[in-house]
Amino acid sequence: MSHFKYSGPKLFVEDLSIANLAKKNKTPFYLYSEKQIKENYSNLAQNFKSINPLICFAAKANTNLSILKMLGKLGAGADVVSGGELLKAIKAGINPNKIVFSGVGKTEDELKLAVKKKILLINIESESEAKLINNIGKKFNIKISVGFRLNPDVDAKTHKKISTGKSDNKFGVSIKNFYSFYKNIKQFKNLKIDALSVHIGSQILSDTPYKKTLNILLRVINNLKIKLKYIDLGGGFGISYEKKDKKINLKNYAKLVYNFKKKLNCNIIFEPGRSLVGNAGILVSKIQYIKKGENKYFIILDAGMNDFMRPALYDARHEIIPVNKLTKNLSGNIEFVGPICESTCKFTKYKNYPKINEGDFIAITNTGAYGSSLSSNYNTRPLIAEILVSKNKFKVIRKKQDLLKLINA
Ligand SMILES: *Cc1c(COP(=O)(O)O)cnc(C)c1O
Repeated sequence: MSHFKYSGPKLFVEDLSIANLAKKNKTPFYLYSEKQIKENYSNLAQNFKSINPLICFAAKANTNLSILKMLGKLGAGADVVSGGELLKAIKAGINPNKIVFSGVGKTEDELKLAVKKKILLINIESESEAKLINNIGKKFNIKISVGFRLNPDVDAKTHKKISTGKSDNKFGVSIKNFYSFYKNIKQFKNLKIDALSVHIGSQILSDTPYKKTLNILLRVINNLKIKLKYIDLGGGFGISYEKKDKKINLKNYAKLVYNFKKKLNCNIIFEPGRSLVGNAGILVSKIQYIKKGENKYFIILDAGMNDFMRPALYDARHEIIPVNKLTKNLSGNIEFVGPICESTCKFTKYKNYPKINEGDFIAITNTGAYGSSLSSNYNTRPLIAEILVSKNKFKVIRKKQDLLKLINA
């Protein structure tokens, strides 16, 4: 969160006071630092420099068009999981030959769109999908370049709701099933297997599960003696939501991947989402009311679980910090909650907190990934604004949705 910091008691994003921004723009809103996103991208690219990978931003982490454009300009491709994301990535100026398409339930329309747009890779996640793509290839009389997403059955040691690489999870094809599929590959005349892909989960903080995955991939490729153009290693690099979260050592991982690449002589693709944008955004919200309960204070915000879903969906803990930090303490138990009529519409709890008052602004931190992209209109609430700051300038990159447009159906 290095570009969101206090100067005295006041919280700043780059060179702008957040209290001033909150006076000019109705809360709640998402607020991003351009510098932070750029820094995150160049750090990642720098760590992986020796591998020279294609870095495909996982668009579902943050689908704002301006942010996609910015990452595209920096050189990123995109990992998309729907026809909508595919069109948005192209609209943002990302070259289709840098786009990979993942997802267990791609429809025929979505697959045809991907073929028509000539994207780099469709990552197949089942035999049935392979058959459907093969048929599309037959119809168009072309050979379609595809990847196969394997499920390596590796425990990513992350929250169970964001684990994707265990055999229990719906994603990818098991190694065993891939072996038997590959025996019949000649029947799939319109498919060209150019890649294998994996994505074992999200918010991963250790390189151990990645190391296991590389070994499994190596074994499969050697067993089958396949020659591949690409290995897509997915994303999942964790960020520090709390002080206790130790960041993953990407330099170590890069060394492993470098050796892996040398053995196979193929190109590497990564699909990072969270690690590029997670710490580059906050959610600015106003304290609407403070209600004294039996044994705690409820700090009722104007932002709800429809605006920011991660705590309700994944029990995610996001630190909440005051926009103007008073030195006096509010002692006793406090719980930040939102206005939505659901008991899960609540955020972080504290035992001691700086003094805050009704009408003050707070920031829910590290909400740049899976924040706005997961928001909804639940309780007939409009999607909130998104604001991008660069140095001392701000730009509204998504306007708050018009409430009157919401009430027609
Ligand atoms: C969500 C997703 C990612 C990105 O994961 P992060 O944890 O945000 O890096 C990458 N690849 C696939 C296939 C995904 O579904």
